[in-house]
Amino acid sequence: MNRAAMRVCLLLLAALSRAGSDHSQEQEGPGHSHWSYEDQEHWGTDHLDCAGNRQSPINVDTAKTIFSPQLRPIQLSGYSLPASEKLRLINNGHTVLLMLPESLAITGGYAQQYRAVQLHLHWGSPSGPGSEHTVNGHRFAAEIHVVHYNTKYNSFDEAKVQPDGLAVLGAFLEVGSRENPYYQEILQHLYKIQREGEEVLVSGFNIAGLLPANLKLYFHYNGSLTTPPCSQTVKWTIFNQTMLISHYQMSMLVMSLRNDDGKPLQNNYRPVKDLHGRRVLASFQTTLPSAKHLPADSDGSEAADGHSSSSFHAGDVLAILFGVLFAITALAFLLYIYKHRNQNTRLDSPTKSKVIYTAAATENTA
Ligand SMILES: [Zn+2]
Repeated sequence: MNRAAMRVCLLLLAALSRAGSDHSQEQEGPGHSHWSYEDQEHWGTDHLDCAGNRQSPINVDTAKTIFSPQLRPIQLSGYSLPASEKLRLINNGHTVLLMLPESLAITGGYAQQYRAVQLHLHWGSPSGPGSEHTVNGHRFAAEIHVVHYNTKYNSFDEAKVQPDGLAVLGAFLEVGSRENPYYQEILQHLYKIQREGEEVLVSGFNIAGLLPANLKLYFHYNGSLTTPPCSQTVKWTIFNQTMLISHYQMSMLVMSLRNDDGKPLQNNYRPVKDLHGRRVLASFQTTLPSAKHLPADSDGSEAADGHSSSSFHAGDVLAILFGVLFAITALAFLLYIYKHRNQNTRLDSPTKSKVIYTAAATENTA
């Protein structure tokens, strides 16, 4: 037997010996499992999918996304929960997890219907951001994931091994000037679940408030769970609009919890993975060049409802639009002079064409 064949056999044996123990602990579910963020290079030996070529997270290069007009707005149903409904909020040593009732569902935007199971967050440390996905290389402060499974399967466990099994909605969190009341429904309880394995019951609220108001603008691609077992069965939606929480709320998120070693639970994000030829679709036109300076400090585009306008830098967009507008006006002016000089007529005011391009500008900044 040659060396390569031997290696394959050893890998198979290793996989078989682990198959029995793998399903004992649910990765995106509650409870303890033995993997850690310090140990990522070994995820692929314990869980073969983690070394696969359809892994998440990824960097979204907006210049390479493909505009797909058939991507309809995401529709959520049952997301508004009464305060009488109590939800489990858990520190599982890797994240804070809010278990969701099965009444929550995605009923539009995907080809099929998906039922919610849980949501959780990824964050950084006091010294750096911690979103999992990045946009044009920019990492946001934090990221929320709402995990759903296809209603044609009976459970999350059954669905997660099916190609069309899972759908995760992701949105970025940034620091804004106001307290976000929806995120406060989670963050105010974190001090009660500082240790791994602890949990608390929280009152129901409008879970949709944790996601952007604009569910029309998003990126879509096929990927995986971002923690072991890294199942490559996730249809991802990453919203373009970011969520804003206050500086104090962000520090509550980053500072409150501890992991299974009793150390601060921070930087619980996985680095971006190669696309390996996968396509990233966009529900909107992203013909703008990549924004190099995404807002670490806000430029004042913050809206009153705790959402920022988009993950593009508004200043960059305006600069480009005005540049284009100026070039077109100058060209029109030159043509006008040329035409009138030929006709030997007197020069008039050449500013009428502007109106058309102002309309286009409104469309592009949506
Ligand atoms: Zn996640």
